[in-house]
Amino acid sequence: MKVPFLNLSAACDELRENLDGAVLRVLHSGGFILGPEVEDFETSFARYVGAEACVGLGNGLDALRLGLMALGVTPGDEVIVPANTFIATWLAVSQCGATPVPVEPLEATYNIDPDGVQNAITSRTKAIVPVHLYGQPADLDALQAIADAHGISLLEDAAQAHGARYRARPVGSTGTATWSFYPTKNLGAIGDAGALTTSDPAVENRVRLLRNYGSEEKYHHETQGVNSRLDPVQAAVLSTKLRVLDDWTNRRLAIADRYTRAFMEAGLAAPFVPDWAEPVWHLYVLRHPERDQFRARLAKAGIGTVIHYPIPPHLQNAYSDLRFATGDFPLTERLAGEIISLPMCPAQTEAQTDHVIESVLRLA
Ligand SMILES: *Cc1c(COP(=O)(O)O)cnc(C)c1O
Repeated sequence: MKVPFLNLSAACDELRENLDGAVLRVLHSGGFILGPEVEDFETSFARYVGAEACVGLGNGLDALRLGLMALGVTPGDEVIVPANTFIATWLAVSQCGATPVPVEPLEATYNIDPDGVQNAITSRTKAIVPVHLYGQPADLDALQAIADAHGISLLEDAAQAHGARYRARPVGSTGTATWSFYPTKNLGAIGDAGALTTSDPAVENRVRLLRNYGSEEKYHHETQGVNSRLDPVQAAVLSTKLRVLDDWTNRRLAIADRYTRAFMEAGLAAPFVPDWAEPVWHLYVLRHPERDQFRARLAKAGIGTVIHYPIPPHLQNAYSDLRFATGDFPLTERLAGEIISLPMCPAQTEAQTDHVIESVLRLA
C-alpha cells in the first residue's frame, strides 16, 4: 500500500463540481482584478478568523511583508522571528530593510520561546513575528505581554494555522495575522494566494493601499505600493473550500488522534500539545535520532514523508551576510536533523492511516 505525504487532487476531487463552478463563474464574469469574489472571500474569512477585516493578497510572503510595512517596520529596525521557520518569515523582514533577530523554540512545542524573545529585545526592536508552526498556536498571551511592555507590535504568521485556537480563541482574532493559501496549506488555493486579517482599521487601510500600487483612486498614488492583490479565481476557489475547512480540519484531528494514541501506547514520543492549544495539524511531526535512515525505511514501505525544514534560515546561503555559523542556534539545528513529517491529508483513508501507524511502530 502507498500512502502519499499529501494527495492534493484527491482532496479536490470531492469538491470537483463546486470548484469547476467557481472557476467558470469568474471566467464568465468579465471581472478579473479584485471585485465581488475577492470582497466576498474577505468578508467570510474575516468572520471565520474572528477579525474585523481581511485584505486578500497575492501570497503569504507578501502578507507578512505588507503587514510589517503597515506596522511601521523600516530599514535599521530589528524584528524578532523564530530560528526554526520557513524562510518566508525572515525574508519579509529583510524585504523591509530590517534585520531578522532569530530566537530558539521551546523543545516541547517547536514554537518560539517567550523567554528567548524577552532576552532578544533591544532599543531597535520594532516587532515580534511568532509562527504557529505545524498548526499549533504559539504562546500568544506571553508574547503579547512582552510586546505591550516594550511598546512594539506583534504580527502572527498564521500561514500553517487556519482555524487553530489559543485559549479557546481563534488565532488571528485578537490582533493582526497573515495567512498563506499556498495549495498545500490547510486552506489552499489552486495557485498562489494570501491574506492579512486585522482588527486595526489603520493597518487594514494601509495594506489595502499597499497591495494596489499605493492607490485607492485609479492613477492617484498615495504611497509607493506593490502589486499583490488576491486573484478572483483564487478567491472563488477559497470561498468554496472555506465551507468545508472545519470538516477537513476534523479529519486531520482524527488522523492525529490515531497517530498519537498508537505512538504513545508503544512508548514513542508523540507531539506535545499544551492544554491551552487546539492545533489544526497542518503537519504531524515526529523526531528520530537517525532520521534519514528511518525516513528511507518508511519510503520502502510506501510512505511519503517530508522534512519541515532541513536547513534553518540562519544557515542558508541567502543569509550569509548575517554571518551566522553552525552552533549559533543549537536546538534549531538539532531539530532540523531529527524531525520528520508523516502523511497528513484530509483524503487519507483509515487503511492508509493504519499502514502508517503499523510501519512507524515496526521501523522506528
Ligand atoms: C507557507 C508559509 C509562508 C509563505 O507563504 P507563501 O504563500 O508561500 O508565500 C510563510 N510562513 C510560513 C510559516 C509558511 O509556512
